[in-house]
Amino acid sequence: MRFFYKRILESRVKKDIRALSKEELQDFFVSQRLPSFKGGQVYQWLWQKGVHDFELMTNLSLRHRNLLNEYFEIKHINIDFQQRSTDGTIKNAVKLFDHLVVESVLIPTSTRSTACVSSQVGCSLDCTFCATAALKRMRNLNADEIYDQVVAMDQQSKLYHQRPLSNIVFMGMGEPLMNYNNVLSAIEKITDAEALGMSPRRIIVSTSGIPKLIRKMADDKVKFGLALSLHSARQEVREQIMPFAKKFPLPELIESLEYWYAYTKKQITFEYIVWEGVNDLMEDIQALVRLCKRIPSKVNIIQYNPIEGSSMKQANQTVIDAYISVLTKSRISVTYRRSRGLDIDAACGQLANKGDVK
Ligand code: SAH
Repeated sequence: MRFFYKRILESRVKKDIRALSKEELQDFFVSQRLPSFKGGQVYQWLWQKGVHDFELMTNLSLRHRNLLNEYFEIKHINIDFQQRSTDGTIKNAVKLFDHLVVESVLIPTSTRSTACVSSQVGCSLDCTFCATAALKRMRNLNADEIYDQVVAMDQQSKLYHQRPLSNIVFMGMGEPLMNYNNVLSAIEKITDAEALGMSPRRIIVSTSGIPKLIRKMADDKVKFGLALSLHSARQEVREQIMPFAKKFPLPELIESLEYWYAYTKKQITFEYIVWEGVNDLMEDIQALVRLCKRIPSKVNIIQYNPIEGSSMKQANQTVIDAYISVLTKSRISVTYRRSRGLDIDAACGQLANKGDVK
């Protein structure tokens, strides 16, 4: 009898249990003539407690745990290794189900723990200033792989900083809107009270700007915030540093942002790097001011993190101060963000699997 049972167990192709919704988990228990609430318990173990082993589901009997083991497996990411910066930033090499690797970064400040999450392996866009752009886009991450990065960094934040994650930014590898459905389902889990239960107001999706999908987010009534990697409010300049922007000219992009604001009433954050000889003229500043007056927004000036093989250089402080002063005088809110994790290549635009374990 035991051998017979074992044979069935071995021959069955196990399903990924995390592909099942809560209702499907409940249905599974009902199909086994067991109470449906067991499905809810399993859902909580998987999504709220982030457990990756049936043995740890201690409110299930041994028989029920064995049953799950017979039918299912729990696919999950593995943190291959961590690098810790002198400023407390942690960069994780995240091994996916098929052993490809992406990076995610936990950025602590005195009051916050922010997780910077990847949405794709590599990137299909061609921004000349970004290290990830040099990697070929291999594939989209699935929703679980995105969710798991967040859970792993939530645990790290509790371990190293004695507090849960406070914020999530989709500013790691990849273009989140090119992986629209999976990013949105991951966010659904992150904000689900029966999973991580974070407020969507603490989540920001950052995009290079794909007008059709910005409109779609507004139509889908998303509750999270939007950041746009603008870097220039002049089309001729923008398409030089972000060549894909030729396909999505600024007038069309701006209309989609107006649409976003009209439907969500959420102001947009423009991310902006100032480079010498690229966007360091008064003309550039004025174009940015005009755009900000049109769309309720704020500007986040990001420090440029030099990447290998590029001669681009951040403009000097006088130019950055000029940006800050003109924007402020025009009553546009502006912040200047210092880079974190520079010593471990964990800062914006530096994620390129350099420390990759093969
Ligand atoms: N594809 C998305 C998200 C990933 S990039 C987007 O474009 O928004 C996250 C942020 O890092 C973007 O604002 C991007 O413009 C910025 N960035 C890219 N390369 C950088 C670099 N070398 N130094 C500083 N910021 C960089």
